[in-house]
Amino acid sequence: MALLDNGSALVPVMDVTLDDLNILEVGSLIQIAGAIWSGNGKVYLAPLPDEDLNGDLRLLKMDAAQWERFLNQTDVLDIRGPGKAILRKSQRLIDQHMAWAVFERDGYRCRYCGIKAPLTVDHIIPWSQNGATVAENLLSSCRRDNKLRGDMEYAEWLDSPDYRRVSAALLPTQQYLNRNVIEKLDELRKIVAKPRSR
Ligand SMILES: [Zn+2]
Repeated sequence: MALLDNGSALVPVMDVTLDDLNILEVGSLIQIAGAIWSGNGKVYLAPLPDEDLNGDLRLLKMDAAQWERFLNQTDVLDIRGPGKAILRKSQRLIDQHMAWAVFERDGYRCRYCGIKAPLTVDHIIPWSQNGATVAENLLSSCRRDNKLRGDMEYAEWLDSPDYRRVSAALLPTQQYLNRNVIEKLDELRKIVAKPRSR
């Protein structure tokens, strides 16, 4: 049992393991509980002040392999104040299948410039805005254009000088398809990443 620095006990209500969880069903906000800091032959456990570690608390036990999986499936996106970070869940285990389905749908070409370059998938509603990693929210994009767009809103990207430049050679029908996506944005915002079946 760990003691928080305000003296209250951190009591696990029920122990769970990573295998009990579907990582996509758990929220994206993590609270970093503290740090283990070592040096000069000593190890210091430095818990952060308790903010809202109350309510339905679970102790999540992870072995080395589970930590590896956890870290592989998440990336810290943003730091939100002391001890808080936003995780994104990369669904790496299914990324390749989904990516290839998206590439196939898009004719193995970048949707923004039309070239057949090594492709990436670009989130229409950006990942950082909780855009789901589902085919409907993904477009094939070459690395250059994916990087050019960055976290720009989709509509803003289509109006940007960069998009106008890279998309100059697209057929009108392709330009239309890209514009048409703007009408689907509200629907796409409602999509929540579906839990992966185990
Ligand atoms: Zn491109």
